[in-house]
Amino acid sequence: MSDYDFDLFVIGAGSGGVRASRVAAAHGAKVAVAEEFRVGGTCVIRGCVPKKLLIYGAHFAEDLKDARRFGWDVPECGFEWTTLRDNVLAEVDRLEGLYGNTLDSHKVEVIRERATITGPHGVKLASGREVTAKTILVATGAWPVIPEVEGAEHGITSNEVFHLEACPKRIVIVGGGYIANEFAGIFHQLGSHVTMVNRGSDLLRGYDTQIRDRLLQISMTKGINFRFNAKMERIEKNEDGTLCVRFQDGDPVAADVVMFATGRKPLTEGLGLETAGVELTEKGAIRVDDYSQTSCESIYAVGDVTDRLQLTPVAIREGHAFADTVFGGNKRKVDYSCVPSAVFSHPPLAGVGMTEAEAKNHYGTVKVYTSDFRPMKNVLAGREERALYKMIVDATTDKVIGLHMIGPDAPEILQAAAVAVKAGLTKQDFDDTVALHPSMAEELVLLK
Ligand code: NDP
Repeated sequence: MSDYDFDLFVIGAGSGGVRASRVAAAHGAKVAVAEEFRVGGTCVIRGCVPKKLLIYGAHFAEDLKDARRFGWDVPECGFEWTTLRDNVLAEVDRLEGLYGNTLDSHKVEVIRERATITGPHGVKLASGREVTAKTILVATGAWPVIPEVEGAEHGITSNEVFHLEACPKRIVIVGGGYIANEFAGIFHQLGSHVTMVNRGSDLLRGYDTQIRDRLLQISMTKGINFRFNAKMERIEKNEDGTLCVRFQDGDPVAADVVMFATGRKPLTEGLGLETAGVELTEKGAIRVDDYSQTSCESIYAVGDVTDRLQLTPVAIREGHAFADTVFGGNKRKVDYSCVPSAVFSHPPLAGVGMTEAEAKNHYGTVKVYTSDFRPMKNVLAGREERALYKMIVDATTDKVIGLHMIGPDAPEILQAAAVAVKAGLTKQDFDDTVALHPSMAEELVLLK
């Protein structure tokens, strides 16, 4: 018999927390997970999943237009935001149910309350109930950051965007990262007038420059407006409910919705971490070692709250590795090399491994191969939009050390190609593979 109520108490039922709970329970641990909002976390409830569904919905705008070039007699089509919104939200409900079922079937106790830490083995629930656990896992995720600007309370974040009453005629999106670019694509396709406001002059820092430049060029050609190096002064709300964004320089921009997509910070506030001596990093994330253990021996943390890589599949791996290590007798850490990532912008982009700049800094000489082409479908549709694939190769070993692409289905193609990059295959290995024709992905084995 354990001296504790639970072997594992997890705070946060998002991607990392749910995986850790389920795997620890499968290893025989008695597990409880506390969730103050909804089971599924950011990814399922207000992130990856509903976002991707909106992207599918938005893409029909272009597909319906293109269909005419392919012989279809498409009448003028209207779009109902509320239909898309409600169907997406219903799917989110369904998935939340599935997540709950998984936890139930593994006999994980789901406690739908806020939980705070009271010591190395203590947790207090909002209802006042106090429980003890041999091990505590913090998987509380991250929360949107809103910059300090007068009138910021009139803006929304990605938390609220899925619930809008109407599709905005004009939207200002603040930020130039993942969320900003993805929602710029969505709303532009849905017919909104989109203005992206960026404090600097770069979009999507961390991605390869050529790929980012291509996205900017395509976005501008489509009609998305950009304000670079913009210093927002204030957001004013007019009597009719519309908004006006004022800048230190340049004309104000009128909008129906202002959305902040200016990064996400680890959710550590008010968790009682100090009661157990859990240290934070300078950026406010929970400091962990390679095994997700914090400075308090009995407390671990996984996912966005640790700010290693804010990506769902990474949180899932961290949760799984933690459960195997602590409850499965299989001590293992997560391998963060060659993690593929994508931005579901319009068109989407994706990358794995080093960018050209990173590779040059690291290796000195690298070989760079590119394919800049107009996808067959775009040609017949009369779209000028070009795709760009880029391969970075270590000049000494011929190993492919980076792969970056923008164009239709780039994330789908890159996920498969990332296996080859992760496995350390060479440019010659790619060349030795016969092309699958006609496809866009064949460009990867035809790079000259
Ligand atoms: P990002 O870190 O991607 O981008 C933040 C953007 O906001 C940057 O352009 C940044 O500018 C700008 N910014 C930061 N602070 C301020 C400020 N005070 N005032 C004005 N601008 C500011 O964050 P997101 O919010 O887009 O997304 C959060 C995280 O969620 C991502 O980092 C990613 O890990 C994850 N995510 C992943 C997705 C995917 O995998 N497809 C999709 C969505 C989110 P600057 O460049 O100057 O710092």
